[in-house]
Amino acid sequence: MAVKNIVHYGDPILRKKCDSLKDFSNIDDLLNDMFDSMYEAEGIGLAANQIGLDMNLFIIDVTHTEEAENHHIFINSEIISKYGDEGVYQEGCLSLPGISLDVLRPEKVTLKYQTPDEEWHEDEFDGLLSRAIQHETDHLNGIYIIDRVSEIEKIQYQMELKELEKISKKRHKVQSGKKGFIL
Ligand SMILES: [Zn+2]
Repeated sequence: MAVKNIVHYGDPILRKKCDSLKDFSNIDDLLNDMFDSMYEAEGIGLAANQIGLDMNLFIIDVTHTEEAENHHIFINSEIISKYGDEGVYQEGCLSLPGISLDVLRPEKVTLKYQTPDEEWHEDEFDGLLSRAIQHETDHLNGIYIIDRVSEIEKIQYQMELKELEKISKKRHKVQSGKKGFIL
């Protein structure tokens, strides 16, 4: 088991559009780390850049809402279309601890993606799964839930955001510094 640190608001990797995954040779280890990290943090979804990896990969587990196991792996995904009624739902985010916001999103999505066997798929999703897919896809494109709400809603979390940014910048500096010493 390898639980990775979840990176928070203010870390540059969360503002970057993630690269596509070309080399699938380490995919099993990578996914084990992703699932371990997500379960440890008690999230229902996790994008690779939330554990510091620049790759188009996210996982979702909405088993708690269903009777059967319901976990998913989406690689090199792209939302082809969004449709259905727009609805508001309260979303939290592992990279924005302590913040939850009412986010307006369309009900359904069509997603094109690869599975770990490198096969391509195109499927429609709705309900919580559609919402989680849209949230994680936003991460892979450098977008947070705070970018999806009005300035008035965002401003109530100004203090928390500043604090998260300060801590992330400090952590990033230390990590970059470490790399320098190794060289
Ligand atoms: Zn999130």
